[in-house]
Amino acid sequence: MTDINRTREGLAGRLEGIVGAGHVLTDALVMAQYLEDWSRRWRGAALLVVRPGSTAEVAAVMAACHEARVPVIVQGGNTGLVGGSVPPAAGSTDALPVLLSTRRLTEMGAVDPLTGQVTVGAGATLGDVQRHVAAAGWHYGVDLAARDSATIGGTVATNAGGIHVVAFGMTRMQVVGIEAVLPDGAVLSHLAGMLKDNTGYDLGSLFCGSEGTLGVITAIRLRLHRPVGRTTVALIGCASYDEALALMTSAVGPTARLIAAEVTDEKGMELAMDLRGLPWPLAARHPLVLLLEVADGGDASGLVGLDDADVVVGFDASEQSRFWAYREAQGEAFSALGVTHKLDVSVPLPSLAACCDELRGIVGAYPGMVAFGVFGHLADGNIHVEMHGPDADDPAPDLAVLRCVARYGGSISAEHGVGRAKAAQLHLCRSEAEIAAMRAVKAAWDPEGLMNPGVIFA
Ligand SMILES: Cc1cc2nc3c(=O)[nH]c(=O)nc-3n(C[C@H](O)[C@H](O)[C@H](O)COP(=O)(O)OP(=O)(O)OC[C@H]3O[C@@H](n4cnc5c(N)ncnc54)[C@H](O)[C@@H]3O)c2cc1C
Repeated sequence: MTDINRTREGLAGRLEGIVGAGHVLTDALVMAQYLEDWSRRWRGAALLVVRPGSTAEVAAVMAACHEARVPVIVQGGNTGLVGGSVPPAAGSTDALPVLLSTRRLTEMGAVDPLTGQVTVGAGATLGDVQRHVAAAGWHYGVDLAARDSATIGGTVATNAGGIHVVAFGMTRMQVVGIEAVLPDGAVLSHLAGMLKDNTGYDLGSLFCGSEGTLGVITAIRLRLHRPVGRTTVALIGCASYDEALALMTSAVGPTARLIAAEVTDEKGMELAMDLRGLPWPLAARHPLVLLLEVADGGDASGLVGLDDADVVVGFDASEQSRFWAYREAQGEAFSALGVTHKLDVSVPLPSLAACCDELRGIVGAYPGMVAFGVFGHLADGNIHVEMHGPDADDPAPDLAVLRCVARYGGSISAEHGVGRAKAAQLHLCRSEAEIAAMRAVKAAWDPEGLMNPGVIFA
């Protein structure tokens, strides 16, 4: 029996005693779905997959892995696009890790009407959380296209952004309490949701954006919002990012509230049309299509000064979801071409147009590029660059994009996180001192380096 098989058998037996035999997976075919990410660009190897069903089980699993000095990769919905949710490739590390799936941690508490808060298990999907709180008359401020697969724990671990950041902020701003298990199995539980609570370090905040490198988030206390009421959605043809940015300000009336401002380029529109069987939605073709959603009671009084624009306006839910479909299909539409390099970056708004123009030049000229597109969350200066053609393992086009963004003072990861994909490029937008401080936190909480090794830090 090889060393790997001996370790697997010993640990599997111990973990089966904790979570039950049905939740320790060692069969290669059964494990396969956990070992490749949504984009199919990232895949790896694991000793086994374990699916604990409670915080106590997570704690016992972590203690057992810690004792055996086996690394742990945490996985929620596996929709992260930076390689952090799957193990590194076989042979790239000394020890095969355990993959811990949080998908059984799906408990959702009742919404507290007094505070407008709810406690949910880390494995509940974002969509389930949205529906659960909506049924109680509340609204959760984060939304993104992967809502029915991404878990709420994953969105906290990546500090996810999405389409409503302009209205409600990033995930970090929705979190008022966290329960998490540290690498040695210790449980940190701080779920009371006290808004005023200045008792030392805010440990929950540290978990937001920690990408599974500090511990396993098992439950989260979320702050909710009152629903915004009826909205109006418009698609507007634009010649440039500068024009789109100008409209984002000028077209929103003084009494309306901007809920979303998204932009899709012509290539992305065409791919979405092919994927979803949709027509071109405007009278003429444009390099960019801007989507604006405003809360205005649903009578379009919130959109102003668009008389000369090529625009369509949607009032009812079915029209609005049809308008959203072009933008929401982007990730899937590019992936339908085959393995695609997916980069998520942000740029200060005054530089967005210049940076996007330069990026299009760089990416378009890259040898072997078959198709590329730029789309994203305009209001946040957050663009996604999709590149199909270059080899999946070729880091050069990614590096060219990240370096360009860094020259404009942007961030090499707007909302997806650093993962394995960008770990070696962290220095492009974080100083030596910042990286040293982050490494010190990691070393204090995970001195053996067992949690998601290779994620965030190369
Ligand atoms: C079609 C599509 C659209 C998307 N749109 C957006 C978007 O608009 N905005 C956006 O921000 N992202 C977007 N994403 C990326 C992705 O959905 C988010 O990063 C999401 O937050 C990941 O959640 P997950 O449960 O799938 O996490 P996973 O992919 O499973 O994991 C992501 C990272 O978090 C860690 N992790 C997961 N769960 C836990 C936990 N309980 N405790 C500790 N660490 C954990 C993992 O180790 C990994 O490092 C999109 C992805 C797709 C496929």
